[in-house]
Amino acid sequence: MKINDFPEHIQPYLIPKPAGKVIYRCIGCEAEHDISRLLYTCPACHSVLLLTDLAFDRLKKTPGDTWRQIFDYRKMLNIPALQGVYRYHEFVGPMMPLDAVIYLGEGHTPMVEANQHLQQLVGARFYIKNEGQNPSASFKDRGMASALSYINFLVNSGELSDVLAVCASTGDTSASAALYAAYLQPAVKSAVLLPHKKVTPQQLAQPLGSGAVVFEIPGVFDDCMKVVEALSEQYNVALLNSKNAWRIWGQESYSYEIAQDFDYDMDHKVIVIPIGNAGNITAIISGFMKFFEAGIIDRLPKIIGVQSTHANPVYRYYLEPKPGKRMFIPVKVRPSVAQAAMIGNPVSVPRVIYLVEAYNEMAGNQAVFFTEVEEQAIMDWQLTANRNGHIACTQGGETLAGLVEAKKRGIVSEDDVVVLDATAHALKFADFQAMYFENRFPPEFEITPKKSLQNVPRLVRPKDLDVVPTAEKPIEGKDFERFVQRTAEAIAEKLGLPPSHR
Ligand SMILES: *Cc1c(COP(=O)(O)O)cnc(C)c1O
Ligand SMILES: [Zn+2]
Repeated sequence: MKINDFPEHIQPYLIPKPAGKVIYRCIGCEAEHDISRLLYTCPACHSVLLLTDLAFDRLKKTPGDTWRQIFDYRKMLNIPALQGVYRYHEFVGPMMPLDAVIYLGEGHTPMVEANQHLQQLVGARFYIKNEGQNPSASFKDRGMASALSYINFLVNSGELSDVLAVCASTGDTSASAALYAAYLQPAVKSAVLLPHKKVTPQQLAQPLGSGAVVFEIPGVFDDCMKVVEALSEQYNVALLNSKNAWRIWGQESYSYEIAQDFDYDMDHKVIVIPIGNAGNITAIISGFMKFFEAGIIDRLPKIIGVQSTHANPVYRYYLEPKPGKRMFIPVKVRPSVAQAAMIGNPVSVPRVIYLVEAYNEMAGNQAVFFTEVEEQAIMDWQLTANRNGHIACTQGGETLAGLVEAKKRGIVSEDDVVVLDATAHALKFADFQAMYFENRFPPEFEITPKKSLQNVPRLVRPKDLDVVPTAEKPIEGKDFERFVQRTAEAIAEKLGLPPSHR
């Protein structure tokens, strides 16, 4: 729709101009740092940073009602820069000129309601928000759109040139970083560090296909992260891990979309998120707080963070009920099918600690919860979800298992409506599915396949056929007719099909 066709009172708001006063703020010492250069940790105290708009209060002057209309009308604009995470420009990057925005089709992923059968099985009303429907098939594209748009802005304004973007990854960060960097080549090139044999073949194929330099490093993700941190401290590279606060901003769009999809009614809503490096839960908490502060939503949803028992440092931290007595201790991870979240020393833990406290305070009661789930439950629930029409990855299975656990613990009540974050596409994790179906999980995964969930292809080759077609040698005439007839009969027999009376 064209600008002039929108209601007059909304027209001036539709196309945002650069605004606000954005700075990095240190989580540790609260120092403020200029954003004209890329910064990942506080130069004063080495803590992680968050981006803050010092002029945020100006947004509160616009009534919540007007904001809701702005976002709803923006849906109808055919302007690429406003079709992804920047539909919420004022909240995810108000200083960004629209001509610097990189849009590759990220965001606005569908929220699919589970069918009756699955809702009954779980005993809750719930939706799965399919982050696998992003361009590189995971939610990481939200943050990359934001980080690479900002890099693009710095390149356009002459602040940066010949950027080498680097990241460590459990698979999806590198897939996404390489994709967005490829779009900006030759100004931006990318190099990614992956733990050797700890990403799936699909996730390895992605950065290779995008033309990134791919390094495989011995050890697990936490080891890769240390190497990439050393690189970013000693060399002139752009770090694209979620340590980069620009990633967090783009990922906040996930919360804004959920609010918009529920017509901004967040009463009795629950969001379930898998936790790895803890960037995503940081962004989602922060997003809902900003919409609440601006009067766009009038309730904060419950947030439930889920971890596998094989990589559960955040869950363990919150086991201690008294905040003053909590101590963060990194864990040594064990193999997990939720491999994208297999992280023992999450970079964003200080952000989570800070934001969880602020969120609970804003909500007026405890609104953030943490659960842990077994590997067995992750696989069983992923496969069950997908057998009911979803495309959930293993981390999506983790959130469904987390919901079941949260119900048991009384965190989710009868009248709650739940949104599960299925963070990537099932196809990225097809190998874990195959290991389950073919019963070949190594013992350290602690997974015993349930027969009812297994599925394998069946070869149909009637024994009484002398010749069958091959790719090199097709068959014809009577032989071919007999092949078709006998094969159809064999399939009908296996399926127990009665003949039709036509
Ligand atoms: C990165 C990732 C996670 C973990 O997200 P964090 O922000 O690191 O906590 C979970 N699932 C998938 C599919 C991911 O790619
Ligand atoms: Zn500091």
